[in-house]
Amino acid sequence: MNASRSVQVLVIGGGINGAGVARDLALRGVRAALVEKNELGSGTTWASSGMIHGGLRYLRTDPEVTYHSCLDSGAIQRIAPHLIFRIPFLMPVFPEDPIGPELVAIGLEMYDRYQPLKRGKPHVRLTREQALRLEPALSPDIDCAFTLDEWGVDAARLVSLNALDAAEHGAQVHTHTEVVALLREGGSGRVRGARLRDLLSGDVFEVEAELTLNAAGPWAPRIAAMAGAEVRLRPGKGIHLVFERRVSDIAIYARGIDGRDMFTFPHEQNSMAGTTDDDFYGDLDRLAVSEDEVRYVLQAMERSIPSIRSHRILHTIAGVRPTLWGFGRYEDELSRDYVILDHGRRDGAPGLFTLVGGKLAAYRLMAEDAADRLCALLGVREPCRTASAPLPGGDDEPDVAGLARRFRIGWPAALRVAFRHGSRAPGVLAARPRPRVVCACEPVLDAELEHVARREGVATLGDCSLRVRLGVGACQGAACAGAAAEVLAEALGWSAERTAAEVAAFAAERWRAVAPALGGSQLAAMEIHRAVHRGARPWSAPAPGTASRP
Ligand SMILES: Cc1cc2nc3c(=O)[nH]c(=O)nc-3n(C[C@H](O)[C@H](O)[C@H](O)COP(=O)(O)OP(=O)(O)OC[C@H]3O[C@@H](n4cnc5c(N)ncnc54)[C@H](O)[C@@H]3O)c2cc1C
Repeated sequence: MNASRSVQVLVIGGGINGAGVARDLALRGVRAALVEKNELGSGTTWASSGMIHGGLRYLRTDPEVTYHSCLDSGAIQRIAPHLIFRIPFLMPVFPEDPIGPELVAIGLEMYDRYQPLKRGKPHVRLTREQALRLEPALSPDIDCAFTLDEWGVDAARLVSLNALDAAEHGAQVHTHTEVVALLREGGSGRVRGARLRDLLSGDVFEVEAELTLNAAGPWAPRIAAMAGAEVRLRPGKGIHLVFERRVSDIAIYARGIDGRDMFTFPHEQNSMAGTTDDDFYGDLDRLAVSEDEVRYVLQAMERSIPSIRSHRILHTIAGVRPTLWGFGRYEDELSRDYVILDHGRRDGAPGLFTLVGGKLAAYRLMAEDAADRLCALLGVREPCRTASAPLPGGDDEPDVAGLARRFRIGWPAALRVAFRHGSRAPGVLAARPRPRVVCACEPVLDAELEHVARREGVATLGDCSLRVRLGVGACQGAACAGAAAEVLAEALGWSAERTAAEVAAFAAERWRAVAPALGGSQLAAMEIHRAVHRGARPWSAPAPGTASRP
């Protein structure tokens, strides 16, 4: 076996938790490998609301979770200042709501105590008139409203920055590589790494490890089962609707027909609405959004924002929470805490550990806890540095105006590159002599695509949806997939067949996300997009004797 494939710790699962642990270990000088069967962050993490919040509703049942999430949100803001954005919230109160303004105010006063941990402002009570002046789209039926202050992050990019930093500190990062078996020692049953399959090349290889950490989120029970070990979860499916552009620059609370709290919130260029939380018994690798789920979310949103149905839904997102097991409670009431399991003690599989549960907002603390445990076993004494060491690009504020001038690109494009890459943006743009926009919706530049292909290990066109938000805007890939594939083909040496297959796979993925939200004229418009993807481009091959379109 290749000696470089022998490590101290193998981390399974390139979601936020796995990437967070890999980074923590690498910064302490531990030889680590991170393995992810798809693109980094493509599991639950990408499907999250991307809030690094305390979780107001956990205050009642899980105040520790609120405290840790707020604390870690403060740390994430310090290490990745370029990747976060403030999300002001409005919580409308209706005359018929079971919890009236006085009780809401008490809850928010409690939450205010945690706000300084994450640079949040205290709440303010607004009269009906003040609230409607601030957001005219609000229902006129409200009694009053409260403000609330939260922060959002590009969750998928946060994962890739953790993995990138891990790699820059010596970790191996294998994407599109699936763990197919755990390696066991004959007598002791000790887990000593895993057998992996590269899903793009088909190659099978082994990574030997002193310790193996299962951070496979909702898939964690499957990984544990490979060593005859048990991880008990109560997985909860959640969906979001993604609207074209912003419904509002303010997030707005909404109540579902069953009384559940949801919200519409600005997220990067778009708005999102959600989320649901339903016990999930299906196939984790084939998540589908149902029409019922879409209707349930829209019904809730409509009560707070009566005009919500006039906004175009771009696509849907579905994910499954790796919620810890609990019986006899509603999904929303289950603990959002995490556990670290030692399968040596529990299941006779020494060398195997599981880190599961928790919140995106507290990922760094969870990773630190897991890395502390693993380092103690390895005899590594280096302290954790992830709360203060900046993630790639987080060390200095990017000069957006300077980028726009120097690279002769528009302000929106400069802003987005700076958002994703921080202080590294000039190096990203330098990949091409004259960067040009490939996807106008976000916008994404060819230089950025070339950079992530050559420097960040992007391996498929689909990876770019998560890595740089390619094709997740209004065009849903129709305007950009072909041009983007050409950039990647040049950088990665793809054949014409491979390039065409990448575009087809990208289109199929976008359609899977779009279709559940469509109906009537929206469905017709998107069928045209599909025809474009399939290569039926009537305007690119003008009939003889007719002028071509400009
Ligand atoms: C709808 C929704 C909204 C949410 N909103 C928020 C929020 O706003 N704020 C917040 O703090 N938290 C939120 N959460 C919770 C948060 O998203 C999760 O706690 C977190 O993303 C879990 O990360 P993870 O790394 O454990 O799992 P994942 O992100 O699922 O990562 C596990 C990875 O393991 C990989 N994997 C599985 N099997 C294998 C294998 N055999 N070989 C290799 N790799 C494998 C998967 O592909 C996956 O990428 C939300 C969750 C959902 C579902």
